[in-house]
Order: sequence, then structure tokens, then C-alpha cells
Amino acid sequence: MVTLNFLCLDSLTLDAITAEVMRQSAKHGPKAILAPDGTKTDDERFNDLIEEIGEVARARTYDEGDTDKLVKELIQVAAIAAAWAQVVDKRSN
Ligand SMILES: [Mg+2]
Repeated sequence: MVTLNFLCLDSLTLDAITAEVMRQSAKHGPKAILAPDGTKTDDERFNDLIEEIGEVARARTYDEGDTDKLVKELIQVAAIAAAWAQVVDKRSN
């Protein structure tokens, strides 16, 4: 029998993701990732996610060694992905 050790995100990381969603919402208003359906399309959400993934790639190459920059970009990816997941989930329920 295989025993899996499930690890959870720590509260600092979850708080950072939540804070990033709130920061993006304040910055982008009706075009924020959590904007209701019809205001922001899934194509736009996808583009936002890919843009942030590109910034992770940049942080890993041109900004190599800048841990703070890499963490910031990863949190932005997580924020967009989590917010988009919530939109999709609410849409289907
Ligand atoms: Mg970014």
C-alpha cells in the first residue's frame, strides 16, 4: 500500500494569492479576472495566464537568481488560475 503525504499550501502563500487577486481586481476593474461573464472572456483570461507564465519564464532566465521576482510572478500565475477556476466553477453551478 502506498501512503501519500498530502501537503497543503501554507497560509502565507494562500494570503499572497488572495491579495494578488484583490490587487488585480482593483487595478483592472470590469476587466479583472473575476469580472462577471460577458465582461471578460475566457480567451482574455487565457491570454492573461499565458502572459504571466511568460513572465515566469523571463524571471527564470533574464532575472535568474532574483527569487523575489520569480515568487511574485508565480503568485500572479496562481492568482489568475485560481480566479479563472472560480469563475468557471460558478458558471457551471
Ligand atoms: Mg507578472
